[in-house]
Amino acid sequence: KEYLNAQRSCTTCPYCGVGCGVTINREERVNTSAISVSGDSQHPSNFGHLCVKGSSLGETLGDNGRLLRPQLHGEASDWDTAMSFVAGEFARNIREHGPDSVAFYLSGQLLTEDYYVANKLMKGFIGSANIDTNSRLCMSSAVAGYKRAFGADAVPCCYGDLEQADLIVLIGSNAAWTHPILFQRMQAGKAKLVVVDPRASATSEMADLHLAINPGSDAALFNGLLNFLAEHNRLNHHYIQQHSQGFEQTLAAAQHWSLQQTALSCGVPAEQLLAFFRLFSETEKTISFYSQGINQSSSGTDKNNAIINCHLATGRIGKTGAGPFSITGQPNAMGGREVGGLANMLAAHMEFKSDAINRVRRFWNAPNMALTPGLKAVDMFRAVESGQIKAIWIMATNPAVSMPEAERVTEALRKCPLVIVSDCVADTDTARCADVLLPATGWGEKNGTVTNAERRISRQRSFLDPAGEARHDWQALCDLASRLGFAQHFDFTHPADIFREHAQLSGFENSGARAFDISLFSDIQRSEYDALQPVQWPVNRENPQGSARLFADGKFFTESGRANFVAITPRMPQQQIDSNHPLWLNSGRMRDQWHTMTRTGRARKLLDHSEMAEIQINPGDARKYGIDEGALVELYNAQGTMCGRAILNSGQKPGELFAPIHWSQTLAQASKVSALTRADVDPISGQPEFKQVPVQLRPL
Ligand code: SF4
Repeated sequence: KEYLNAQRSCTTCPYCGVGCGVTINREERVNTSAISVSGDSQHPSNFGHLCVKGSSLGETLGDNGRLLRPQLHGEASDWDTAMSFVAGEFARNIREHGPDSVAFYLSGQLLTEDYYVANKLMKGFIGSANIDTNSRLCMSSAVAGYKRAFGADAVPCCYGDLEQADLIVLIGSNAAWTHPILFQRMQAGKAKLVVVDPRASATSEMADLHLAINPGSDAALFNGLLNFLAEHNRLNHHYIQQHSQGFEQTLAAAQHWSLQQTALSCGVPAEQLLAFFRLFSETEKTISFYSQGINQSSSGTDKNNAIINCHLATGRIGKTGAGPFSITGQPNAMGGREVGGLANMLAAHMEFKSDAINRVRRFWNAPNMALTPGLKAVDMFRAVESGQIKAIWIMATNPAVSMPEAERVTEALRKCPLVIVSDCVADTDTARCADVLLPATGWGEKNGTVTNAERRISRQRSFLDPAGEARHDWQALCDLASRLGFAQHFDFTHPADIFREHAQLSGFENSGARAFDISLFSDIQRSEYDALQPVQWPVNRENPQGSARLFADGKFFTESGRANFVAITPRMPQQQIDSNHPLWLNSGRMRDQWHTMTRTGRARKLLDHSEMAEIQINPGDARKYGIDEGALVELYNAQGTMCGRAILNSGQKPGELFAPIHWSQTLAQASKVSALTRADVDPISGQPEFKQVPVQLRPL
């Protein structure tokens, strides 16, 4: 391949929501050239540091395993033939069955520009809101929690707060493995660490206090904390009075959560709980840092609000080193949310309300505006199963592995009349269900922006030619739009043009009522876009340098301008263990892998650590089931089965197991943890309950 940039360029890591800056160096050698990857010392999110995944990025480049040209019904094809078929089938289905018979399922791996075009096409021109994303599985409860409390999906904190805090409470997060650069930043600071997690982890090993709570009892813990703060006169009454509403009802709901009752529900000694409550109540600069352990729950939104309640009650928000900080999983942690790439959002942080629908209609000059929210991920694949959705385009994600009830989703895709998969990888469980395969550009080839977990927009820059016949996702979408008759509205020729329109929409009739505002970029030129430096939104006339923190003035995006307390009645997981399925299965990421390993699995040094799924088992449970270290075991329940290798780990509590999420049918038979997960969802956010799954265990 010919490398486009001969020397050095700055881009962003494509893995997690930390969004580390990466420097690419190309070295010329005789008859060859080599790419080396290092941390970007100028990037304010990571200051030159990279974790093992980021520093192995160079090993994942190259055409090996790539999808290089379109395929139609299993045969090699070309773009024109494939897109002509796709557009014809989309048009026929829309004509015969209405716009809701088609759908897009996207990914936090996409760039904001890809997301913007997909959202505009589906919601403004096709006329459906059937556009959802794998972000639904990751952070949709955090979005719902922020919106309920603040009136906007607005993360109040920044990474610098981790170094300024005196106390960091990590809840449902193994940050040492999953967000390693942020964990390093925590360790560089002076904060005491409290880890709330049912199992011991690399993170809890470094903690001052580990609360190994019962699975799913997080909301009870924070209701207990709120009650403790009230009982011990640790509330910030001035802040509550000036800047919030709903406190009395919220405290009333928390008041029977005494120390003893909370300790009982959470399954931790009362002395440990007391130590945590005292630490929290006495430490002004406290960050609550929470992740999928909170979100992936059938009551994830309530858990988010139970945490936020404690920050509002103490006025610890919008201040240096303090706040409720949701940490998301994917590289474009927020970009999809910003453009509205979720079925229940419209665009640029606007909801499906008549004034917003009219505003966006006028801005896009859209002929077929969607008027109501579309189907969230679980419901979307159920609609594929029932035949209501007849054509689905899946981009840059692998739902046949990552969705709950994965076998059911796979079967639904096999039976769906039209499945289009665009990906940079040739062989995935989902690609095996596709009627049309479209080669997409991958990291190093893509060009656009991402927004990380601290609202920081960074450039992902291309430094390689597209592999084979790969195209950018936004180009493929513009092609579809054009073939459907909307060419003049999708005549983008460069990602800067898309970003500019996105910025204009964020500021369109936005007099400060909407949190997301990057209107300062409304006239951005391509050269300025190419040179764009990482910046945290809002970026507008009032905040030309961006904004490290939100809500410093105590003003929120609710109608009253006050933050909402939300009264919480803790709910336990929808399924409970019983004599047939007596073990709790928890799941998550391993240190060296990412998603379904389609990229990290290519780096030998990352895969060397673990060649098959490892099931963490308490040694006492292993004895009970006659399982030795390294033995092959099977987990099963009514949904399905999963195989793996037993790892005896005294950090697992008796009766609790842990399995990695990364394995797929493509890599090994019967290895998907999601095959065991029932699709129980949070009623507000639609996020599935991945973390508490009852299973049975047996040796193989
Ligand atoms: Fe990439 Fe995340 Fe590692 Fe940073 S912490 S290098 S963004 S995987």
